Amino acid sequence: MPAPSTLVQVALHTPSHSGVGDLLSYASERPLAPGTLVRVPLGTREVLGVVWDADEATGELPDGATLRAVAGVLDGVAPLDLPWRRLVAFAARYYQRALGEIAMAALPPQLRDLRPEQLARRLCRPGKAAGETADAIQNIALTAEQESARSRISAEKGPFLLFGSTGSGKTEVYLRCVQEMLEADPTAQALVMVPEINLTPQLEERFVGRFAPRFGAGAVVSLHSGMTNPQRLKSWLAAHSGNARIVLGTRMAVFASLPGLQLIVVDEEHDPSYKQQEGARYSARDLAIWRGREQGAKVLLGSATPSLESWHASRPPTPEDPEGGRYVRLHMPSRIGAGALARVRRVDMNQQPRRAVFSAPLLQAITERVARGEQSMILLNRRGYAPVLHCVDCGWKSDCPHCSAHQVFHKTDRTLRCHHCGYTLRVPRHCPTCGSPDIHPMGRGTEQLEEQLSALLSEVLRPDRTPARIARIDADTTKAKGALEAQLAQVHAGEVDVLVGTQMIAKGHDFRRITLVAAVQPDGALFSSDFRASERLFALLMQAAGRAGRDAAYMAAQGTPCEMWVQSFHPKHAVFEALRTHDYEAFAAQQLKEREEAAMPPFSYQALVRADARTQDVAQGFLTAATAAAQAAGLPGLDVVTLFPPVPLTIQRVANVERAQMLMESSSRTALQRFLAAWQPMLQTTRSQPEHKGLIRWLVDVDPLAI
Ligand code: ADP
Ligand code: ZN
Ligand code: ZN
Repeated sequence: MPAPSTLVQVALHTPSHSGVGDLLSYASERPLAPGTLVRVPLGTREVLGVVWDADEATGELPDGATLRAVAGVLDGVAPLDLPWRRLVAFAARYYQRALGEIAMAALPPQLRDLRPEQLARRLCRPGKAAGETADAIQNIALTAEQESARSRISAEKGPFLLFGSTGSGKTEVYLRCVQEMLEADPTAQALVMVPEINLTPQLEERFVGRFAPRFGAGAVVSLHSGMTNPQRLKSWLAAHSGNARIVLGTRMAVFASLPGLQLIVVDEEHDPSYKQQEGARYSARDLAIWRGREQGAKVLLGSATPSLESWHASRPPTPEDPEGGRYVRLHMPSRIGAGALARVRRVDMNQQPRRAVFSAPLLQAITERVARGEQSMILLNRRGYAPVLHCVDCGWKSDCPHCSAHQVFHKTDRTLRCHHCGYTLRVPRHCPTCGSPDIHPMGRGTEQLEEQLSALLSEVLRPDRTPARIARIDADTTKAKGALEAQLAQVHAGEVDVLVGTQMIAKGHDFRRITLVAAVQPDGALFSSDFRASERLFALLMQAAGRAGRDAAYMAAQGTPCEMWVQSFHPKHAVFEALRTHDYEAFAAQQLKEREEAAMPPFSYQALVRADARTQDVAQGFLTAATAAAQAAGLPGLDVVTLFPPVPLTIQRVANVERAQMLMESSSRTALQRFLAAWQPMLQTTRSQPEHKGLIRWLVDVDPLAI
């Protein structure tokens, strides 16, 4: 047996902050190309790794070196290409994480567990027959607005922001652009991302229906966390080998290996779920832009309510700003079939009886819709029955003992549940403090809404004289696998008259018979300390309004306009004013003006460092000490980076862990990046000092979405 003779650098997942560098060296019997998947020993385990580019990657082993040898090579899988490795390296650098961590998180989990022989067997199994047919795709005629967008996307370089009203036919434009590209080049691949798993089934149906007859049954694959590990591996391999032409997925799909990538679509690009909130806190939308530029793929962002970042980046040139933004803005204002957008009805809750959940006019409107056989959708962004239980006699509240939050009252299963740490109790019959039986729910959640609607509509009949049917969709009703699909199918099939739910039902769904949407209690977000709260609320309400009246022919036959109702104690608030006229542009202009004056994103760049510890003092002490160290060392970038003092998070304690954070802000992204890179090792050193022993973890969040 020849002695191992070549040195290779391998990216693998080492325990975080273990002090081990990004790449580890191993010995190999033969040279291995960068991107090759290998199994290597790490401590007493054997783990998956990727051979990485390194200057000395093929150098000779020094005499007497005792490097450990590569344990196995996953020969069946082609090496991951340079664009993929560059994407991973960039994401690691930009989001301040270890290279190996990002690389391993980007690969399907099952790849980590399979030995080369097992993988080889898996690869032998025939997949669905790919292969093109001569069947021409029967395309529907595009509207003039769609055609104009399509031809510009085809002719120009991008990146593009497709700013199209809800129901303007954005998805149809995506389908056309994908088709055009796949037909022009038999090796081309497209990546289409959606914000939430619950939006993938409907989209998958549309893509498979359109493309499978032409490009083969295996041409479209999905990638999201709702899939089993074997399914994910299968999709991943299909994309990596080039057999899959289209990958549909959630944010994780941005890391899919796609050697023929030519187009990336990011649908509902404003959606916060594109930002990963654990581990490496990357933005899939921002990485899509980067990846597209690097790999020479077109990038198409789409939304009816673009993020202010993308809106600003797509500003047209003006005399004062002759360059304009980097993105090309494409506008599709009209709904398909000349359907009208929902008429917005605001109810001033100051004029309503004190405890009314449904104002009289809203209830009347829902009743009329039910009587005509139309569907309504009621939105409340809080699940459970009531957010807190309260004792009238002594003031006790159902506080979670482990978090600075209330336990939520769930009536269906008689529990008090903390939505932050999961701590669950049976609902007490008497006040745990004073023994009084006089304990009551305060506030309301979707369970209560469903219950009250059932009572309020109990006498209301549908056109066929049967009683109104009410359904609820939220995280509690959709826990079981397939439950959400089944519930949505019921709505689509017309088996539900009034649908109650959280934001889960507000986004993306192409409901055909919903004619009324109501937000019963949207005020909470108006006075939030988060500067993005009104942007998010506006987007959510516009999205929700967009679920109504999507079928122009149906609306014409019904003869009444579709409506979006908002119940508020501040009905004249700017958010609702802009909603009334569906005027995203005016809303964005006003918000951007405020952001510019306050030097906030997108006019500045931010990052957070968060520290978790047993006490606030330790958490904040760590941040203060690390800041002092940075200042003492005069780190690069400090002159243009503002470091704010540490503060507790809004929900300060979760699962008995105290959380603090500090904000960094700069007008220069480069300076902020340079500072963070220099600070990272200093944070590690600070952490290892004895006075910060109580620190549990710290993490960096670059371009944070919530502050
Ligand atoms: P969006 O993604 O902008 O909300 P969709 O692409 O889902 O809109 O389109 C809304 C509805 O209009 C869908 O049911 C779609 O099939 C239909 N549609 C889209 N484009 C056309 C067209 N050119 N002609 C007829 N119907 C269309
Ligand atoms: Zn009490
Ligand atoms: Zn808790």
